Amino acid sequence: MNIKNLIREIPNFPQDGIYFKDITPLLKDPVGLSAAVQAMIEPFVDAEVDIVAGIEARGFVFAVPIALELGCGFVPVRKPGKLPAATLSRDYALEYGETSLEIHTDAITPGQKVLVVDDVLATGGTLAATCQVLKELGAVVAGISVLAELSFLSGRDLLAGYKLKSAIVY
Ligand code: AMP
Repeated sequence: MNIKNLIREIPNFPQDGIYFKDITPLLKDPVGLSAAVQAMIEPFVDAEVDIVAGIEARGFVFAVPIALELGCGFVPVRKPGKLPAATLSRDYALEYGETSLEIHTDAITPGQKVLVVDDVLATGGTLAATCQVLKELGAVVAGISVLAELSFLSGRDLLAGYKLKSAIVY
C-alpha cells in the first residue's frame, strides 16, 4: 500500500504558488486510511503517550483514531474564537501573514506526555506554536506525528529537539 498515491496535489490552492496536498482521496479509501493511521502511530507505540493533541482541522481526522489506538484521550488545538472555555493562545507566522491558535487552559494536566498530530508539516510554524502552548500548560511533548512532511520547506528545523516522525516525505 503506497499511501502517497492517494494524496493528490492541487496547484494554486488556496492561493497562487501553493501546491496543496489534498488528502481527501486517502480519507475515502478504507485501506489507505488505515495504513496512514498505522504509519503515524507506529513510531510512538512505546512512547507512553498520555494524551493526543490534534491541530484543526485535518489534524483532528488523524488524531482521534491515533488516540483511540493508543488508549488515550484527545485535545483540540483550534483556530481563534472556536473554543468555549478559558484558552491560552499564541500568535505565529504563516507562509503568508500571521495567525494564532488556541487551546483550553485545562486541556492538559501538568506532566502529561502529549503526542502532537497534524496532516502536513510545511514551514513548521503551526507545530512549533502548538508545542509552545502545550509546554506553557506543563505538558511534556512526547513527539510529533505528521502524515506528510514538505522537506523542501525545512519545517523540521523549527522543531529541533522534538521526536518528529512523518509517514510520507516530499
Ligand atoms: P506550517 O505552519 O507552514 O507548517 O503549515 C502547516 C499547516 O498548514 C498544516 O496544518 C497544514 O494542514 C497546512 N498546509 C500548509 N501547506 C500545505 C500544503 N502544501 N498542502 C496542504 N496543507 C498545507
